[in-house]
Amino acid sequence: MTERKESSTDDPVDRLLATARGDAVEEPFRVTGVMMQYYHVCERELWLASRNLEIDRENVNVVRGTRVDESAYADRGRQNLRLGMVSLDLLEDGRVVEIKPSSALEEPARMQLSYYLWYLDRVAGVERDGVLAHPTERSRETVELTRDRATRVEGAIRGIHTIVTADSPPPPEEKSYCDACAYHDICWC
Ligand code: SF4
Repeated sequence: MTERKESSTDDPVDRLLATARGDAVEEPFRVTGVMMQYYHVCERELWLASRNLEIDRENVNVVRGTRVDESAYADRGRQNLRLGMVSLDLLEDGRVVEIKPSSALEEPARMQLSYYLWYLDRVAGVERDGVLAHPTERSRETVELTRDRATRVEGAIRGIHTIVTADSPPPPEEKSYCDACAYHDICWC
């Protein structure tokens, strides 16, 4: 039986990588693609989601997003590939495709996809480019894991760790998309 290395590090990035490799980490740390997206949308949303607070599935925007995700690429063999902490929508010609219902939250989606590319590179040693697809808008954008993007992903991992290990959530800050957020009533009612 292979003995797993006991790993102890204060840096959340190192801890995430050790967790992903299956090392025996004192305090495992996992970041999903959705967490990366939430971090760039609203830090309070990230904290609330990290506590498994139930989201409102009847919220029309949540339903709409799910439907688009499920149907848009059905005829092209949507795959939902799970690789450790991340779940990829689709691999197409060797590129990682992330499907979003609209380009309204473009940079959070770009960072989510960048995290997938970073994870593939650092954990699996596989270099890939990505494609951000908005089927309802018939638009596609190539996303590459540049050095700058990798640095930003690692900064975000550290930021996510700070948020999710805090005892209380950041205060609500009104944003244009609060009305469409599943946590709207928790924040504003
Ligand atoms: S309602 Fe607004 S402030 Fe509250 S979690 Fe959602 S986006 Fe963040």
